[in-house]
Amino acid sequence: MILLFLFTCLNIRINLCFPNILSLKTLELDGHFDFDQVHHAARDFGNIFQLLPLAVLHPKSVSDIAITVKYIWEMGTSSELTVAARGHGHSLQGQAQAHRGVVISMESLKYPEMRIYPGKSPYVDVSGGELWINILHETLKHGLAPKSWTDYLHLTVGGTLSNAGVSGQAFQHGPQISNVHQLEVVTGKGDVVNCSKEENEDLFHSVLGGLGQFGIITRARISLESAPAIVKWIRVLYSDFAMFTRDQEWLISAENTFDYIEGFVIINRTGLLNNWRSSFNPQDPAQAGQFKSDGRTLFCLELAKYFNPDETEMANQEVEILLGQLNYISSTLFQSEVTYVEFLDRVHISEVKLRSKGLWEVPHPWLNLLIPKSKIHTFAKQVFGNILTQTSNGPVLIYPVNKSKWDNRTSVVIPEEEEVFYLVAFLSSAIPSSTGNDGLDHILTQNKRILEFCETAHLGVKQYLPHYTTQEEWRAHFGTRWEVFAQRKSVYDPLAILSPGQRIFKKAN
Ligand code: FAD
Repeated sequence: MILLFLFTCLNIRINLCFPNILSLKTLELDGHFDFDQVHHAARDFGNIFQLLPLAVLHPKSVSDIAITVKYIWEMGTSSELTVAARGHGHSLQGQAQAHRGVVISMESLKYPEMRIYPGKSPYVDVSGGELWINILHETLKHGLAPKSWTDYLHLTVGGTLSNAGVSGQAFQHGPQISNVHQLEVVTGKGDVVNCSKEENEDLFHSVLGGLGQFGIITRARISLESAPAIVKWIRVLYSDFAMFTRDQEWLISAENTFDYIEGFVIINRTGLLNNWRSSFNPQDPAQAGQFKSDGRTLFCLELAKYFNPDETEMANQEVEILLGQLNYISSTLFQSEVTYVEFLDRVHISEVKLRSKGLWEVPHPWLNLLIPKSKIHTFAKQVFGNILTQTSNGPVLIYPVNKSKWDNRTSVVIPEEEEVFYLVAFLSSAIPSSTGNDGLDHILTQNKRILEFCETAHLGVKQYLPHYTTQEEWRAHFGTRWEVFAQRKSVYDPLAILSPGQRIFKKAN
């Protein structure tokens, strides 16, 4: 009896999987499927979830992606296949994975070739699988560059546009999703659709910040600006949180302000892991020696001013005027001048260091929160005062952005009540098999405590790069925007084929 039951189950599994694999093999494509080398697609930067796909598609053309998705769409609910676009696989909780499904390796898609359009309002057309670091190098050849970045550039356009893409320029230019003119998208029905604010605008806004739920971004048109040659990179320290946030909030609204404004928290800091995002060499090493927290909680304001060699004097003056109005501890001014590329690609330098020590490919239980300005003090008092006792597991970023630079027609969820909200990012690395404060369990418990506090104190916090496991939690995350999100899903991906790793919708079968 038991044997019969097992045999039946096995048979069902075989029937569900093998016709899928066999039929995929019959598709005529410019690129190819790989059915053997699939293990890398079951990994991501988070290093916590591992879901094995059946196949990895290496597309050579947009039509490869459209043919594959259409084929699966036409199989309807008779097939359990789902499809995940995988950018650079730097998700944290398996968001770009597809259990027994098809993963599309977007970096294989080299079409269309990157094309730069200089002129009064310059822009660049890129493939959805292009890395931002490559866009930087190409656009710089024309003296241009995108306006809004992430702190780390070895991520794909499709990957960051599916979330938001936030960094120290966002207060001024908005996130990356606010700097896109046009997209080409393959929907969950396999249709190739161009969209923008003028054409198919609902799809355009759905896809931006849409967690890969509505279509696969195959091409994006990204706004550019003149690129500076040099960056004055500055760090100053505060021991008073109120003073620190007051200065940050003033700076993001000031005239002629810095081009980049971020900040981070230092609590009983030790070790390399905490420094991975820094790669900062202050000109005066003696000053750098003072850069220790000595058991205290310190807040570091990080600023950058862009300029060209012929503007040095003016840039120096502007910086001096701005710094003169800040309330940091006066002996803690660290300054350095670096090239624009060195500044933007700063995290990669730390990556190389961490890789050489075997500390890059470890579990990353990250937690990213968006917190309304009026609640940031309550949050800081409890979290930086009690829950978090040290920041040696990785950086804790904190900086404000302006809501008006975010488009509320996109799918991204942000705190909506106030004009300013803070991004607070706990970028922890866990030491494998450690059971101490740097172990995965400890950090996950700490994250849970932070989330529980936000909940019980009614702080109106939203997760960025959100991770939930039930639809109930997703509904709560979207709040009043859930109906629109679900309705958009029913239009653009009615069978829930796309991005199953987000665990929002489940394909019916
Ligand atoms: P993947 O992990 O491959 O995919 C992410 C999601 O998008 C998946 O659901 C996937 O299915 C979907 N997707 C991928 N490509 C496409 C496509 N072409 N079309 C539709 N859907 C697609 N984020 C910030 O905002 N600011 C930061 O400063 C920042 N710094 C980071 C630093 C590091 C070291 C890391 C690892 C991540 C950082 N992130 C930051 C988060 C990062 O933006 C997201 O994790 C992003 O999704 C990673 O891009 P990816 O190309 O690796 O995407």
